Amino acid sequence: MPKTRTENPRRGINVRNALGVGPQRHKEMLAPMKRLAVLIVLILVATVSMAVTSAQRDPTVIDIQKVANNLYVVTGGRGTGTSSNTVSGCTTVFITNAGVVLIDTKLPGFAGAILDKVKSVTPKPVTTIINTHTHGDHTGGNTDFPRTVEVVTQANTKANMAKMDAFKGQNDGFLPRKTFTDRMTLGSGQDQMDLFYFGRGHTNGDAVIVLPALRIAVLGDLFARKWAPLVDAGNGGSAVEYPQTLAKAMAGVKNVDSIITGHSSRTIGSGATAKFEPFGPVVKWADLQEYTDFTREFVASAQASMKAGRTVEQAVAEMKLPAKYKDYDMANARNDVQRVYEESKTR
Ligand SMILES: [Zn+2]
Repeated sequence: MPKTRTENPRRGINVRNALGVGPQRHKEMLAPMKRLAVLIVLILVATVSMAVTSAQRDPTVIDIQKVANNLYVVTGGRGTGTSSNTVSGCTTVFITNAGVVLIDTKLPGFAGAILDKVKSVTPKPVTTIINTHTHGDHTGGNTDFPRTVEVVTQANTKANMAKMDAFKGQNDGFLPRKTFTDRMTLGSGQDQMDLFYFGRGHTNGDAVIVLPALRIAVLGDLFARKWAPLVDAGNGGSAVEYPQTLAKAMAGVKNVDSIITGHSSRTIGSGATAKFEPFGPVVKWADLQEYTDFTREFVASAQASMKAGRTVEQAVAEMKLPAKYKDYDMANARNDVQRVYEESKTR
């Protein structure tokens, strides 16, 4: 009976060969059976240990991961109430000679937890905060740091932050004092950080931060995770320009091997019962190429449906993207198609 099974070319693994059972053992039926039993036990053990590993890496719990000698990522930080289906953005911790640079500061209330994690890896003080964009799950901790900490953002992000309650009134002193339009370099040598703005996408002020000495780029929510992107039109985001912006980033950023994504989890479901599984937060540069292709093909499909006179609902239902995107979270797909329709109308 194992004959047809092991010789079925559609099966990726030839069980008998994987166990080192040669054809000369054909007559010894018991030995392969025993080996099969051993294999099953091994698979079960592997499955259990994988479950334990993912339980240890609960993506909602604040944790710090080492990426390089002087670079860490603080992951986790789930919101409460209306933010309960949100896990904070990643906080990148770059330890320079002058002090610690934080890229993004999670949801409000997590500054103390971030600082505890920073203190577990360096005695240096936080001297600079760079926010990749305006959203509260990336800027929430800003106002809990001393006002002497230098805050840096793209200029449009400063304008967007000024509209947030968190930065109004007396808190306007926490608004960024240093901004850039297209490009700015901070620090030098091992500490160099190149800040870029490539155009509208998630918002109209998404910064890409490149750490040349480490060959790493921090993408914020321009690449939050593998999903149909969240496009925040209220803060100048654009579904149609999204793939163009990513293509400009691909062309404009050189000598980078790895990317830190905006988030370190995927959300399954919504609301208080939402579940989260780990994603990233360190992915390969090639993943950005794939994501760029995904957004381009997504927009092209939506525009083709619009041209063919389909409704938004039909466009979503009939969208056929290559199988390599099958694991992408499509929760935002309807909103994104809607955005493509509205933006394309006014062109
Ligand atoms: Zn965001």
